[in-house]
Amino acid sequence: MNPLFRLLGDLENFIFPPFCPICDNKLKRTDIICQRCFDKVYFVSRKKCKICGKPIKSGKFCASCRKENPFFDFVISCGSYVPPFSDIIKIFKYRNRPSLSKKLARKLYSHYSSRSAVRNINYLTWVPMTKPEKRERGYNQSQLLAEEFSQISSLISTNILCKAANIPSQTALPYEKRLINVRGAYKIREKALKSFKGNPENGIILIDDVLTTGGTLNECARRLKEAGFKKVVGLVLAISP
Ligand SMILES: [Zn+2]
Ligand SMILES: [Zn+2]
Repeated sequence: MNPLFRLLGDLENFIFPPFCPICDNKLKRTDIICQRCFDKVYFVSRKKCKICGKPIKSGKFCASCRKENPFFDFVISCGSYVPPFSDIIKIFKYRNRPSLSKKLARKLYSHYSSRSAVRNINYLTWVPMTKPEKRERGYNQSQLLAEEFSQISSLISTNILCKAANIPSQTALPYEKRLINVRGAYKIREKALKSFKGNPENGIILIDDVLTTGGTLNECARRLKEAGFKKVVGLVLAISP
């Protein structure tokens, strides 16, 4: 950065110190959200479904996973999609803060690295967006997380999925319609699959920002399994309770 701009930035921060958009506390110059808010990530329930990670009251699996096994094997997440973490994710997605991906990927990594069941997996991919969706937002938050995650871990990031056009946004739809909406929305990029250097038998990590119904992750996992990946592990920032 030009030293003059940096000086002006420092001066501006001195006169108008930046505040955390969540708790209103003063921020360090380079921070977007304060560390205290960043550290307040937790699960609303101690008992979680062993597959999708949703909170449950008893047993090992939630009603939905008991009824029908998802295509993904299990999901690793940092916490529940509740404030302030849900607010942080919204800022990352909707308020043009792509640089938050660095800190968030580190959070993902700390949860991922404690799980021995993922040791043999060497590749990762992410839930894709259509080109117009990406153009509108300026970035695909899941792709940014995947790229940052790949830098921190030794996993190789591969762009193997694509999203077909004309699928309405999931967030605009009621819960029941979301599951139907995603069917057929995602495809394997055949070229990427042909040039894939790894062994699909070892499986793949699939990164997304939030698991809501699990429909999106499931549809992507279905395609990856069809393409020969023996194991698909979801890695998401948060799971909505
Ligand atoms: Zn804060
Ligand atoms: Zn479940």
